Amino acid sequence: MSYDFATYDKNYHTEADVVVIGAGIFGLSTAYFLSRMGKKVILLEKKDVGSGASGSNEAFVWGCTRKFPVLPFYRFSQQFYTKIHETIGYDVEYTNCGGYVIAESEREMELLEEWLEQRWQDGLFEMKMVYKDEFHKRLPGFSDHVMGGTYNPLEGRVNSILVCVGFASAIRDLGNEVWTKTDVTAINQKGNKVHEVVTNRGTIRTDCVVNAAGSWAADIGKLVNIDVPVIPNRMTLLVSEPVAPFLNTVCMSAVYVFDEINKAKTQARIAAGEDVKMEAGYTYSQQAKGNIMLGSTEDFVGYDRRVNFENSKAIAKVMGDVNPPLRDKKINVIRGFANFFPYTKDDLPVIGPVPGVEGFVMASGLNGGGMGLGIGAGYTVAQYCALGETHIPIHYFDIQRESLYK
Ligand SMILES: Cc1cc2nc3c(=O)[nH]c(=O)nc-3n(C[C@H](O)[C@H](O)[C@H](O)COP(=O)(O)OP(=O)(O)OC[C@H]3O[C@@H](n4cnc5c(N)ncnc54)[C@H](O)[C@@H]3O)c2cc1C
Repeated sequence: MSYDFATYDKNYHTEADVVVIGAGIFGLSTAYFLSRMGKKVILLEKKDVGSGASGSNEAFVWGCTRKFPVLPFYRFSQQFYTKIHETIGYDVEYTNCGGYVIAESEREMELLEEWLEQRWQDGLFEMKMVYKDEFHKRLPGFSDHVMGGTYNPLEGRVNSILVCVGFASAIRDLGNEVWTKTDVTAINQKGNKVHEVVTNRGTIRTDCVVNAAGSWAADIGKLVNIDVPVIPNRMTLLVSEPVAPFLNTVCMSAVYVFDEINKAKTQARIAAGEDVKMEAGYTYSQQAKGNIMLGSTEDFVGYDRRVNFENSKAIAKVMGDVNPPLRDKKINVIRGFANFFPYTKDDLPVIGPVPGVEGFVMASGLNGGGMGLGIGAGYTVAQYCALGETHIPIHYFDIQRESLYK
């Protein structure tokens, strides 16, 4: 037999209790908890650990918008982050910095007040309203038209690539394997059961395969002839040059909470002659090294990851309107980046078994909240694979539910 030393050995054969496909937050945390449960796991990643949405995003651990039935995932994840350094042995720069949802009009403030009532009913008692004077005292530099908003002291921030690298390192410390630069070329079945995962690095015999391929989950679904209704939603962000620390919290506009506001603002800008396809939301935070992270726009463009001028301009305009000092002090944007989050029509993930393909388990569709939901969701998928039952109910996330397809 002749060997090509530039490639891996396609003829290598091994086995695992569970093969997890995709090293984003969902796949990594699933593989990590399975490792802690004593399972032999191999985690396969097409590119590098965290090379999908999980390694480059806005990194908010954001709870205020999380509702039943995903709220338990957030609760689990948020608590895990408070102990993540000692638990996985890796500093992921988690800060429990608190966060605001910001109102730019009386109407938005009213909507936030009503919304807060609902949030309390959902058990998020830690959230409070902050009114105009108090808001401007706490956060100088916001435009006078900002009326205040809600504050949640539990909101946090991490360094997302460190979260990914940290989990991968913990999986290896627990004796399991993470194969990067690995293409999954086939999932062989015996009867209606998964049997083998075939890759460019060899074949793995297994009875359980987890599809945690994020925005690419549909491609993995095709390997077992199922449709996975998860598609890429591109989100674009800008990053400023580093400036002296001034913002130790995370902020976002009410656009992200209320579709009504989003639509009204978009229409107003179109009426004013601007060429906008959608209102840019408003997210605002400062990284540990001083860079300001400014977001964001969302659009559906397949897998086109380019940053375009229209989206960048929309973000810069919203930011300058809400925070005039950014514009007045001419703080430079040094880069923009875009990435895909795994979008589902009903904003809920797809988790659990797939009828007709025994041993194939879905773990995708965390939408725009995976950094705050992924650890709890991964724990739940690990429980399902290892024990066949879960603490957090998963039937809401069934791949056959109607709301995924409407
Ligand atoms: C710009 C942006 C900002 C965001 N900001 C926030 C935020 O502030 N807070 C928050 O909570 N969430 C945020 N999100 C959402 C969050 O990033 C996602 O919900 C989360 O990262 C999804 O994780 P995942 O593991 O499901 O997918 P991914 O991280 O995309 O991981 C999927 C992985 O599967 C791999 N893969 C694909 N196909 C294959 C294959 N055939 N074989 C092997 N591997 C494969 C990919 O390479 C990738 O590494 C943001 C998203 C974006 C895009």
